[in-house]
Amino acid sequence: MSAVNVPRMAKKNPAVALASDRGWEIRYSRGGHLLLDCPYGCCRVVATTSPSDWRGEKNAVSIIKKCPQRTTKGA
Ligand SMILES: [Zn+2]
Repeated sequence: MSAVNVPRMAKKNPAVALASDRGWEIRYSRGGHLLLDCPYGCCRVVATTSPSDWRGEKNAVSIIKKCPQRTTKGA
């Protein structure tokens, strides 16, 4: 597994924290957005690092929690 250096600012993002906790791949896009890919290949979330975009964060967290593969590991 490759460790990703997530900037301090991004770690405060609840979506990034949750994604990291669940083994998602975290990358930066050129535009400064965070790309979060689920380890099962079925979900992708584009998160913003803007502290004012709380709606985006909430939506990203929601998508991460809804990953359909999350509860079927080992099947
Ligand atoms: Zn998924």
